[in-house]
Amino acid sequence: MLQEITTAPLVDIRKVARSFKKGSGNDVMVLDNVDLTIREGEIVGLLGRSGSGKSTLLRIIAGLIEPSSGQATCRGEPIAGPPSGIAMVFQSFALFPWLTVLQNVELGLEAQNVDRAERRKRALAAIDLIGLDGFENAFPKELSGGMRQRVGFARALVVHPDLLLMDEPFSALDVLTAETLRTDMIDLWMEGRLPMKSVLIVTHNIEEAVLMCDRILVFSSNPGRVAQELKVDLPHPRNRLDPMFRQLVDNIYARMTQRAEPRAQAAEGIPGTGIGMFLHPVSTNVMAGLLEAVAGSPYDGRADLPDLAASLQLEADELFHLGETLQLLRFAAMSEGDLVLTEAGKRFATLETDARKRLFAEHLITYVPLIGLVRRVLDERPSHAAPAARFRNELEDHMSEGYAEETLAAAIAWGRYGEVFSYDEQSETFSLENPQ
Ligand code: ADP
Ligand code: MG
Repeated sequence: MLQEITTAPLVDIRKVARSFKKGSGNDVMVLDNVDLTIREGEIVGLLGRSGSGKSTLLRIIAGLIEPSSGQATCRGEPIAGPPSGIAMVFQSFALFPWLTVLQNVELGLEAQNVDRAERRKRALAAIDLIGLDGFENAFPKELSGGMRQRVGFARALVVHPDLLLMDEPFSALDVLTAETLRTDMIDLWMEGRLPMKSVLIVTHNIEEAVLMCDRILVFSSNPGRVAQELKVDLPHPRNRLDPMFRQLVDNIYARMTQRAEPRAQAAEGIPGTGIGMFLHPVSTNVMAGLLEAVAGSPYDGRADLPDLAASLQLEADELFHLGETLQLLRFAAMSEGDLVLTEAGKRFATLETDARKRLFAEHLITYVPLIGLVRRVLDERPSHAAPAARFRNELEDHMSEGYAEETLAAAIAWGRYGEVFSYDEQSETFSLENPQ
């Protein structure tokens, strides 16, 4: 016991911060004051929304980038460059298409001084372990997504790492394949057949974290921080329908939507304010569908987010984007892990198409600063037309090009639906002519 206490943890992250330069030259703080310790024998989950800095933290642990401040150590030694004993599995499988399965897996050992015979032996054992026996000589393009990700695993396992880092390893797979891989991995882990000592898995999928992890760190965004840590004491194999499992999922949903409650919203719930607000390109059809679903039975205007995610087959992240957009538009609010319709949201659900569009347009112009601006500019110009570049430039003062493009696309789609303006893709021009 004493020895356990005195052994340095596998990885120790202390007060780590990381910022990146933005286009405009300002620094953006992505991680702030992050503490995290990983000990031997545990599967730790890092759960947070897209953009909260999870991959950045993982890259710091993998020695691929440095923290701006704070300390990152592996077995007591500062991390400078990739530490030996840490391997990573990526979301996109990152296999070499011109190499066979066996060659791709052997590649994991290339950097280490392992002789050829040993290399082959260990690669074959890893391939066998993850269930790809018989596919040693196949090329990646001959494999399904699930099989490719198994190769990705094998390549990381072959080095017998102390710590396996997994960055959203199942998110590129279809639902069934992902579930099979998760359970296969947990089975092997419980049987003690996996060669690593610990796993750090990054995910934005709440149920996945509860299904797999011994401990979950819930990350908040802007900047990323560990907002909560919880232990999952349920025995494996875990049952998603177990009331204790549901309770944990519920608690985490509540925690992850808490900061988006109306009171906090102005401060941090919605990234950026005014014209600099980032808009997720959420489909108007899906918004309308969600408002209808929540207005109707059995919800009657108030729905539990995990229930909604399950019944609409939405990932938590998508549901958060939807909920936040409806919140921005004042059609709903997220509160204590529930989505609650406002009076306007309930009214929307009862209206005919044309009346819906008018109500939607009214809320767009009032509550979405970018759309309000587009409309004002069009109203003021004698031509009643304006190029997209006029707004794109302004957006890029506040956010990266990619985000500006997404924000503009969202505004265009919503504005068209509400007939606030029309937009011509060819000439990239907004106008008030023939609103569609
Ligand atoms: P997550 O993995 O949680 O989705 P990331 O760690 O990938 O989040 O990114 C967090 C934020 O940091 C994002 O806003 C992203 O644009 C920004 N970011 C990540 N890497 C870089 C980089 N190399 N340069 C500039 N910004 C970056
Ligand atoms: Mg990521």
